[in-house]
Amino acid sequence: MPLPELPFDPARCLVGGAWIAPESGARLLLENPSDGGALAEIAGGGPAEVDAAVAAARAALAGDWGAADAAARGRALSRLGRLVEEHVKTLARLEALDVGKPLSQARADAAALARYMEFYGGAADKLMGATIPFREGYTVYTLREPHGVIGHIVPWNYPMQIIGRSVGAALAAGNACVLKPAEEACITALFFAHLAERAGLPAGALNVVPGTGEAAGAALAGHPGIDHLSFTGSVATGRKVQAAAAENVVPVTLELGGKSPQIVFADADVEAALPFLVGAGIQNAGQTCSAASRILVERPRYAEIAARMAERYAALEAGPALEDRALGPLISARQKAVVEGYLAEGADLARAGEGRIAPNAPAGGHYVAPVLFGDVPPDHPLAQEEIFGPVQCLIPFDGEEEAAAIANTTGYGLVAGVWTADGGRQMRLARRLRAGQVFLNDYGAGGGVELPFGGTGLSGHGREKGFEALFGFTALKTVAARHG
Ligand code: NAD
Repeated sequence: MPLPELPFDPARCLVGGAWIAPESGARLLLENPSDGGALAEIAGGGPAEVDAAVAAARAALAGDWGAADAAARGRALSRLGRLVEEHVKTLARLEALDVGKPLSQARADAAALARYMEFYGGAADKLMGATIPFREGYTVYTLREPHGVIGHIVPWNYPMQIIGRSVGAALAAGNACVLKPAEEACITALFFAHLAERAGLPAGALNVVPGTGEAAGAALAGHPGIDHLSFTGSVATGRKVQAAAAENVVPVTLELGGKSPQIVFADADVEAALPFLVGAGIQNAGQTCSAASRILVERPRYAEIAARMAERYAALEAGPALEDRALGPLISARQKAVVEGYLAEGADLARAGEGRIAPNAPAGGHYVAPVLFGDVPPDHPLAQEEIFGPVQCLIPFDGEEEAAAIANTTGYGLVAGVWTADGGRQMRLARRLRAGQVFLNDYGAGGGVELPFGGTGLSGHGREKGFEALFGFTALKTVAARHG
């Protein structure tokens, strides 16, 4: 199924307010993961377009965008948020076609994008420095200044949410942006840029260069005109981006992968936990950085919870994104092969629960039936590595010590959930768990745009989302005035 008619040409990049074709003439084919058919041709941007985009961003900072005060930036983002809200249905449909994400999940992402613009539009003029008590005869204060030109490299799994949190915060703080969306899914990024133009964002404040990671991504990460990099993606690429940032000595935020646990104690409200235990594992077909891919269950309730999860698994069906089942396809044949490789690696494990592929799912789509593995040893590769597919591991444990030890065994540290009625245990584990976010009797808090997000260890460093992101997208300057 081809894309509906678009108000821009997806085979072009947005650079300095002009939609330009790549100098090389390169085009990339976007695929519809639900049926494997061609969706559209997009621009294969490269170093020339990145160069032009960085120059356009710099010019915007020297021009209208740089001159806009915080309130004006906030109003522009608020206008953009309202336009996104008016286009939620369109954006959701495009995302469903491009990412293979079930329609209602794509709609939630589009609504989140609008909410990010609302949040950062409102925050723009509330970012303040401080006055610092110092010696007699001095007045000391701090200024929060934009870095300048930010390079945003985003993946395919949650384009709208990730653009919302990183581009929204960067613009609110007064930076200009060059966005490199993923080659597998970039239509909503371009649509967002089109809406930003309509909202009156000055030319060059937001530039978008679609293209491959090797061509456009590497050129952006290593560009000497970039002042800060915001990267979301895999650990392997994150390492390359950090190395490129080191060459230019610029700060970098890395939002990488995860192997996040939900820990269920015997005293937990299992009824409340169940939808989260399964939902947070199979959302977006498990292609979520904060997916709850490990479910740790205290032994006295293990058999019961395994059986209850298996019941839910039996009702899970993967089907075309527009049919809005629990799961859609995976993004690509490559990703499907990776997940099937892990399933083969789990051949020695018991399957505690299984879903299925909908009988009408097109043969060309990249569908994988969800699998819940039971009694998985904590050091098994399936319990250690990020699979990025609809695969969860059930791991039994005895007591709080062992739960914390198992939870903290992977190199990742993105998100963790704890289900228990014991308040003291909640507080202890909230401190002990290696994660950037800990949820108590909850998981994900509905995505909360207000909540700072980011990882430790292999999950990366730096924080995006919430007000905290504004600190990351600014540099602090201390001014000390000696006046006697
Ligand atoms: P990826 O690293 O392959 O690609 C991410 C982006 O980097 C794409 O835009 C790609 O084109 C670009 N890229 C590729 N090679 C590059 C290079 N050499 N230089 C610069 N850019 C390059 O990741 P992916 O497979 O698309 O995404 C899945 C990964 O992203 C998973 O590991 C997932 O956990 C992670 N992720 C993390 C978060 C988070 O917030 N922590 C959110 C979503 C996804």
